[in-house]
Amino acid sequence: MVFILNHGATKEKIDSFISGWEQKGFSTILSVGTEHTAVCLIGNTAEIDMDHVVQTTDIVMYGKRITEQYKAVNRTVHEDSTIVNVGGVSIGEGFFTVISGPCSVESREQILEIAQSVRESGARILRGGAFKPRSSPYAFQGRQAEGLEMLLMAKKATGLPVVSEIMNQTQIDLFEDIDIIQIGARNMQNFDLLKAVGGLKKPVLLKRGLANTIEELLLSAEYIVAGGNDQVILCERGIRSFETMTRNTLDLSAVALLKQKSHLPVIADPSHASGIRSLVPPLAKAIMAVGADGIMVETHNDPAKALCDGAQSLDLDQFGALMADLKKRAIIENKTI
Ligand code: PEP
Ligand code: MN
Repeated sequence: MVFILNHGATKEKIDSFISGWEQKGFSTILSVGTEHTAVCLIGNTAEIDMDHVVQTTDIVMYGKRITEQYKAVNRTVHEDSTIVNVGGVSIGEGFFTVISGPCSVESREQILEIAQSVRESGARILRGGAFKPRSSPYAFQGRQAEGLEMLLMAKKATGLPVVSEIMNQTQIDLFEDIDIIQIGARNMQNFDLLKAVGGLKKPVLLKRGLANTIEELLLSAEYIVAGGNDQVILCERGIRSFETMTRNTLDLSAVALLKQKSHLPVIADPSHASGIRSLVPPLAKAIMAVGADGIMVETHNDPAKALCDGAQSLDLDQFGALMADLKKRAIIENKTI
């Protein structure tokens, strides 16, 4: 249940309203927006007489029952779109932020060449996996801690903020200087990890699981935001379907629906969604058209020799051409790219 408060509600009255509910055993979420302030109650609200609360509390304008299980990430509770700011870069409504870089960091030369080139083309954030979740234990597992060091070197050289995937909570200290922690598809429901990053003051890029529903993605984000970290970016990256000609099936409806259901920024990953390089540009354009706040695209200086996901990686020129196209489209979409 959420109560929308009157514009003039003082801090003292809001505090006493909240503590009244907390004394009755409810948890609360206070959401301060540009239009209004809202207080969401969590707990067994079925017995609450909402109309009575509205009539007897002078600071309450109206109440609404929230049927969804996700509250803190729910747009009904928090109407204003959340903008995540990282190293001078904004991700969220009004922006189309492009994250680019290799599937995995391979060497200093590789990550530096890619970083400089994608920055030149207009990417605002550099990606690079150091710990790689691979289906086969015999496949390249990433450069691990050394890979993070290489990524930080490229950050220093280019000024680009960086994002990299964490595998479990024991690695958190290694990510101290990484700007955005990525939780990959395979870890979307690793609840201990979600709780751990919920306690951090650092943006989290949460990717949708291969076979998870939109609601499950929102509930995973809820773990992080309810834990105290509201800097969460949702990422649609394709789901498993009956289709075999593409690696996954890009769920564009999820992008549009997530934007409606949640105030969090929503991006999509056309690389893992398709697995096919030639599909990345058309899907990237579709992602922009459907209202996403950005994309994450795998880009490599020599895709044919990439240690991971070369077949879906754009080369540096192809990425440059895609950026030029997206920049034109961003004008029509009224987005800062
Ligand atoms: C990745 O982005 O490097 C990755 C492994 O993606 P996903 O978790 O979506 O498979
Ligand atoms: Mn990859």
